[in-house]
Amino acid sequence: MRIIDLRSDTVTHPTVEMRKAIAEAEVGDDVFGEDPTVNKLEAMAAERLGKEAAVYVASGSMANLVAGLTHCQRGDEAIMGTEAHIFHNEVGSFSALGGINVRTVPNDSEGRLDPNAVEAAIRPDNIHQPRTALICLENTQNRCSGAVLDAEYTEAIGRIAHDNDAALHIDGARIFNAAVALEAPVSELVKDVDSVTFCLSKGLSCPIGSIIVGSEDYILEARRWRKMVGGSMRQVGVIAAAGLVALDNMVERLAEDHANARKLAHGLAEIPGISIDPESLPTNLVFFDVEREDRAELHAKLVERGVKGGSPDQKRWRYVTHYGITESDIDYTLETVREVFTNGG
Ligand SMILES: *Cc1c(COP(=O)(O)O)cnc(C)c1O
Repeated sequence: MRIIDLRSDTVTHPTVEMRKAIAEAEVGDDVFGEDPTVNKLEAMAAERLGKEAAVYVASGSMANLVAGLTHCQRGDEAIMGTEAHIFHNEVGSFSALGGINVRTVPNDSEGRLDPNAVEAAIRPDNIHQPRTALICLENTQNRCSGAVLDAEYTEAIGRIAHDNDAALHIDGARIFNAAVALEAPVSELVKDVDSVTFCLSKGLSCPIGSIIVGSEDYILEARRWRKMVGGSMRQVGVIAAAGLVALDNMVERLAEDHANARKLAHGLAEIPGISIDPESLPTNLVFFDVEREDRAELHAKLVERGVKGGSPDQKRWRYVTHYGITESDIDYTLETVREVFTNGG
């Protein structure tokens, strides 16, 4: 049966070229700094993001945790959006493992935090209060329809952070989607940022891996925290090799995923029972509301017919386009959704 898996861009499989690079990867002990493939990937990532250094980690969640631990002392506070992935989807790691107090400020529908609200949330120098050590933004902002933050906005928040002796971190799990959507070099988007994390394992299609970038000193310290959380790996060039292929060949093609997402969103907008604003979806994440009570049945029927994604018990559904989903898969998806929605759950 034809399967169209739109649950997430994490379901992508490594490309043929990646599998070949994996098989042929030169390796060494990365904890000794001796894995040439990892060293090459870290140097390439730092260069692409316009930072001095980078460190390779197992996952996006580990990347954000290590980044937070490196910026903050126990009892410090980190400001982030009410819709932040770090706040909702990383098991409370900042507080559980870092002793970091998390303070949220509302995200607007564009994924932004009001700069005045951020400024107002920064703590005064007062022995009763935690110190504001960190501000976190997310680009693209997953739960805000994959909204994209531009360079000017990020710069404005960077200024607020630095004027107040705090650091600015970007959870850039999908930062390359933002760069492609804005047609801007990714380094522009993170110019005034102290640390950025990004995932190789999502739209870039690697099997595993994320990267943290920042200054030389910051990354040196991050290596200690990575070791502490058990994230230092040995002959890890075998997976880092896929990352080199990803940075070379898989970035520009994200535009195809965005085009497919746009086509999907406009098609869904024509189907009765679905409410969606296609213009509010700039990247590969397609969010829509299913205005029907039989959504569990609809969901089950769609899955039965190979269209995976959405949710049996929630009104808000998400379909994600990615490498491996073609334009013809989008046509099939739209046909199938239309039929299932017309004939009932
Ligand atoms: C996926 C994601 C992460 C981290 O993901 P892992 O599954 O731990 O690799 C972090 N932030 C955002 C916004 C994400 O979408």
